Amino acid sequence: MSGKMRSCASCGKYTMKEKCSCGEATETCHPARFSFEDKYAKYRRKMKYGG
Ligand SMILES: [Zn+2]
Repeated sequence: MSGKMRSCASCGKYTMKEKCSCGEATETCHPARFSFEDKYAKYRRKMKYGG
């Protein structure tokens, strides 16, 4: 599973799609700008301990 986080310059939404739900084309962005990665890291850690 791999995907690059993209953001819409028009409405500011984050998506993995090349096109936003508003119809505007999205642009790739650095994951460090938001806590999306960190959020998933937390889940990964939980899964590790939970089995
Ligand atoms: Zn949009």
